[in-house]
Amino acid sequence: MRIHMFLLVILMAAVPSQAEEWRCVTEAPPSPYAKTPGCPLEGPCDDPVNRDAAIPQPGDPVKTVRVRFVVFAEDDGSNPAATAQEVSDELALMNAEFAPHNIQFVATTAFVNDSTFRTDVPGADVDLMKQTYAVNPQTQVHVWVTDYPAGLGGLAVVPWDPVALTALGGMQVDDDRFGTGQKLILHEMGHTLGLWHLHHGTFEVPLCSPCFELADGSNGDVSGDFCSDTPPSPAGCPPSPPGTGPCTGVAYPPAQPENYMIPYGPDPVCWDQGLFTVQQGGRMNCWIEDKLTTWLDGAGDVNSDGSVDIADSVFLLQYLFVGGAAPSPLCQGGVNGDSDVDIADAVYLMAYLFTGGPGPILACP
Ligand SMILES: [Zn+2]
Repeated sequence: MRIHMFLLVILMAAVPSQAEEWRCVTEAPPSPYAKTPGCPLEGPCDDPVNRDAAIPQPGDPVKTVRVRFVVFAEDDGSNPAATAQEVSDELALMNAEFAPHNIQFVATTAFVNDSTFRTDVPGADVDLMKQTYAVNPQTQVHVWVTDYPAGLGGLAVVPWDPVALTALGGMQVDDDRFGTGQKLILHEMGHTLGLWHLHHGTFEVPLCSPCFELADGSNGDVSGDFCSDTPPSPAGCPPSPPGTGPCTGVAYPPAQPENYMIPYGPDPVCWDQGLFTVQQGGRMNCWIEDKLTTWLDGAGDVNSDGSVDIADSVFLLQYLFVGGAAPSPLCQGGVNGDSDVDIADAVYLMAYLFTGGPGPILACP
């Protein structure tokens, strides 16, 4: 499921009332966590108990996510979509704003000279762009920076999307919305780590359906964005007067315009004093632990060569059975998350690499 940010603005303006086409996660695969009444859940992190259990506590290890910026330029290297300084500034902003939630980022940057993907890249070409230039997408989130058609500021693939860890995952950020002082990347990274819009439960689901987040807050944990510390918001940016909820007749609570997951629109004024809430932080940590552990710096890279592949499993087997070198530090070999390093870790890694098993755990504190 891909989140079309500014495209939604246009669609919202084009329809007089709640848009029927905005469905509640129906594109997603069948979920074993679904419960009724409520919204279909995408995984354990839509359960508020698991969300809250993942809220970082003092002393918890920081989760460091690997990022690969891919910045396009023309064939001759001219007109780059961003400069190295702009990438550096965006990375610094990400680290500052996600730090309260124990999430940090390390990044590499690829400047790609290919005019095919530099100007007005249509959606039909995006998959080809990604498949051509993605590098180890299972171990790092890609940020695709170039010029996209008018109306598309950003777009992200959420963690429960089956393609999240493939070349087709990652996020797109338009070059007009990327650079020093631009904050759209925070919003898109929020999606990438498992956040919905605050208005998901009011604008992106059928009106007054079980997935509709009610103005009285009674179903905030199990509908909409699955966070009860974010108000059910009918408002964009800048927020319009909230008014009365259509399903309850109860007045909406004040909007939370500073939240990074609320605004649509060309002006990011709402993000000047931006935040992610405590529960949003819990969701991001939960989804990272559930789906995105292979993006964590160090996870699964048993032989410390910078990638996660068959060589890591072989390295582990050689250490265990033929006196090969030990992982350094040894905990790096504990990819299945239990307390020791043994054959089960090698099997776990092989299952991840070849049969779709869960990703390696970042075992070292
Ligand atoms: Zn969005």
